[in-house]
Amino acid sequence: MRRFLLAAAAGILVSATAQAQVTEDDLKNDQTITTQIVTNGMGRHLQRYSPLKIVNKENVKNLLPVWAFSLGGEKQRGQESQPLVYDGVMYITASYSRLFAIDARTGEEIWQYDARLPEGILPCCDVINRGAAIYGDKIYFGTLDARIVALDRKTGDVVWRKKIADYKAGYSYTAAPIIVNGLVITGNSGGEFGIVGEVQARDAETGEMVWTRPVIEGHMGTYKGKPSTMTGKLNATWPGDLWKTGGGATWLGGSYDAETDTLVFGAGNPAPWNSHLRNAGEPRPDNSGDNLYAASRIGINPANGEIKWHFQTTPREGWDFDGVNEVVPFVDAKGDKRFATADRNGFFYVLNREDGAFVDAFPFVKNITWAKGIDKNGRPIYVEENRPGNPSAAADGAKGETIFAVPSFLGGKNWMPMAYSQDTGLFYVPSNEWGMDIWNEPISYKKGAAYLGAGFTIKPLFEDHIGSLKAIDPLTGETQWEYKNNAPLWGGVMTTAGGLVFTGTPEGLFKAFDDETGEELWSFQTGSGIVGQPVTWEMDGEQYVAVISGWGGAVPLWGGEVAKKVNYLNQGGLVWVFKVPKQLVSAN
Ligand code: CA
Repeated sequence: MRRFLLAAAAGILVSATAQAQVTEDDLKNDQTITTQIVTNGMGRHLQRYSPLKIVNKENVKNLLPVWAFSLGGEKQRGQESQPLVYDGVMYITASYSRLFAIDARTGEEIWQYDARLPEGILPCCDVINRGAAIYGDKIYFGTLDARIVALDRKTGDVVWRKKIADYKAGYSYTAAPIIVNGLVITGNSGGEFGIVGEVQARDAETGEMVWTRPVIEGHMGTYKGKPSTMTGKLNATWPGDLWKTGGGATWLGGSYDAETDTLVFGAGNPAPWNSHLRNAGEPRPDNSGDNLYAASRIGINPANGEIKWHFQTTPREGWDFDGVNEVVPFVDAKGDKRFATADRNGFFYVLNREDGAFVDAFPFVKNITWAKGIDKNGRPIYVEENRPGNPSAAADGAKGETIFAVPSFLGGKNWMPMAYSQDTGLFYVPSNEWGMDIWNEPISYKKGAAYLGAGFTIKPLFEDHIGSLKAIDPLTGETQWEYKNNAPLWGGVMTTAGGLVFTGTPEGLFKAFDDETGEELWSFQTGSGIVGQPVTWEMDGEQYVAVISGWGGAVPLWGGEVAKKVNYLNQGGLVWVFKVPKQLVSAN
């Protein structure tokens, strides 16, 4: 009704039900339009940088809650979503594949959608969801039964609903979709079940499949319902039929580099974890044990799904170092166009944006054991004795030699997104310092069953912290400042032109740091652990900041000794929205 009155006052003839349409230009310019957040990553480059500075280093101490919204009683599990905001409405995805539309000014619910999941879904790492995508008059999100749903943004009614893959085979879906030129593009989850990683593109209007691109060599892609090209070369780096259940889940979704018109998706661990079963246990001069394109970043043409380039972070992967972490296009301080990505394996990589070629890499966590470094071609310099041993070499054939590896399989950095400041030129990387005992076991593939061939126990490295938020210079590899946190960090980071870096902790604190010094300038107790992704936007001339609180995710489920360390943390499920009250914006 308010919109009708405003429109009438402006002398424009529109109906009260007309709905603003999100266009490709809105998506393309999301990083600079401060009144909206219509993409995962606050821009499809995933820089998570806002040009807003109404809230800044001087006044952030006056940041106060405006409203909070509960995501519901029995479904209080990990809340890893990034809010979207458009036309006065906030859209939040939540645990168990739910989506809420909330009045961004008042916190009142407008509608909610519950995917009503079938029995027998197989999520590996909590019943989380990482966010939605907006385009036209619809909102899109993935569900734990491996479907993608398009809802009417105004009503929450289902417009179309499509199957990504068979949840009974271990597929699921949790990442935010990405939309490019009218295509809704998704990955898939299930790397611990011997699935095959794939990227799919559908017509946003109809849900009709346009192309598919499996990411394990030997599988055929499709274009408009017909076979297109094979991914890689059959059996070039995989023995026998292992590629058919080769893993490489594309479970974190992708980024988009508009300048080179390239989608970049990451592929998870090759399956099974036991690398000796994949010819990866022994170094081969011809690299035939590399298991492409698992543990890789892959540049894809968004129009047809053809692979433009790939860069494998962990060839011969054997520690569950998924290669899915986000790839962020940026311009470095020398003016070169680069990609940056902080891998599970503990190394931060800089790649060329034109062709994905290796430029530089350096460790961003301490005491890495499995590799001495990265060579000039971007390949790890392996410490072969730090690979979990081959069970068939053991006397009983049941358990290979146990080794202690750093980082742990949950990674120097896991899914939680870093942020890049265009002002400081620094990446703010949420990392964890931990290791693991890991050993290999025999395993054979069985549909819908865990396909690891490995056992493990995660252990902290230091008494006083696991979590480590680092400000990293991508030119030098130097850490400019570090914030240490007792529990492992598992939430996203955002930075602003106000000179602030925001992130949350499992202990429940939502914090703001000085982007240059790391000094903590503000914090607020949200009542449960934060594993969500902060955002900021402008509304009615004021700057708002939001984050979802709700402890969960992979750490308490997979975390070994670390899980014991965090088992006192309370679950929850609240969206928190903050602003600096007008009268305090210029107050010191
Ligand atoms: Ca994995």
